[in-house]
Amino acid sequence: LQSRLPKVGTTIFTVMSTLASEKSAVNLGQGFPDFDCDPALVDAVSGAMKNGFNQYPPMPGVPALRQAIAAKIEKIYGHSYDPATEITVTAGATQGLLTAIMCAVHPGDEVIVIEPAYDSYVPSIELAGGKPVLVQMTLGADGYQVPWDRIAAAVSPRTRMIMINSPHNPTGSVLKPADIAALKDIVRGTEILILSDEVYEHMVFDGARHESVCRDPELAARAFVVSSFGKTYHVTGWKIGYVAAPAMLSAEFRKVHQYNIFTVNTPVQHGIAQYMQDPAPYLELPAFYQRKRDLFRDGLKHTRFKLLPADGTYFLCVDYSAISSLSEADFAIWLTSEIGVAAIPVSAFYQSPRESGIVRFCFAKQEQTLQQALQRLAKI
Ligand code: PMP
Ligand code: GLN
Repeated sequence: LQSRLPKVGTTIFTVMSTLASEKSAVNLGQGFPDFDCDPALVDAVSGAMKNGFNQYPPMPGVPALRQAIAAKIEKIYGHSYDPATEITVTAGATQGLLTAIMCAVHPGDEVIVIEPAYDSYVPSIELAGGKPVLVQMTLGADGYQVPWDRIAAAVSPRTRMIMINSPHNPTGSVLKPADIAALKDIVRGTEILILSDEVYEHMVFDGARHESVCRDPELAARAFVVSSFGKTYHVTGWKIGYVAAPAMLSAEFRKVHQYNIFTVNTPVQHGIAQYMQDPAPYLELPAFYQRKRDLFRDGLKHTRFKLLPADGTYFLCVDYSAISSLSEADFAIWLTSEIGVAAIPVSAFYQSPRESGIVRFCFAKQEQTLQQALQRLAKI
């Protein structure tokens, strides 16, 4: 068989989690919480199963869940999506991203991707026959920034879509109003679509607000906004999320969705719909994760790692160049095998080899897990 994705191997997250478990390392690599979700959420889902919500739901998702999603978006970002035609429940953000790309990108179309980029983006574009056009973030004293002048220069008559991700995996950077304004200037007067990966929307720290593209009507009119309940409710294994987009884009999205997976499992949708009635869990998330970030960051100040800014997500990047000249991949393997703490090399988020001496840690962990990792890291 001739591979459709010849350059793709096993994802770095699986590779590092396997090594972490072989070496009994503290796993700060793959992004997932090591604590359980709210028991009330489990009760809501199991209640839905016991109440007979076990057959196919409507193709775009359970109406009560789509309504709850639309209400949340309107309350927080002030944009009103019609749950009937503009919100589709997906099997995690990954499927939402792939489906948005498959419905919009034609063979030969260009999609601008900002690197470092989440590892599913480029393969998804390639599966659609699209051409990823890569623009790298700059790394300076303020951490990683998007060079909008270079994005503008990368636009061509074939540009179909620009993908953005804020809060950003792996760098933990967040887009500011000036970034959104720059993006708006670039797309104004064009037919370029925006695919906005906002899975960490509820993890923005130090009082800053998440700049969802849907806050801006001009951008909302051309955007697929993707989110994930896995991140927001500490249930990464449930693989459920959603895509919000104007009716015309959602109609095309649903054409692909219905023949890709048709729909998403029923009881989890009912359970989340019920759980979402209380906004407290997502409103409290910034403070919850900021405490973890601060604990981890303060502990790392006693190590030889240099800290990069961590304004959002549950990831924190560190510069290890004062410690080692190993490549990022080799350093992550060494750290896992010899020190007992797994991390992810940031080079895994680039298509071409790039070495900055930076690895990513995930701090979505219990305090004792973070303390154990810090004790080990302090020995280097
Ligand atoms: N986008 C980004 C930036 C992510 O970090 C993740 C989760 N690792 C996803 C998408 C995928 O989310 P899900 O697990 O809901 O498919
Ligand atoms: N999003 C998670 C991360 O960045 C991993 C998801 C996965 O394992 N595919 O670590």
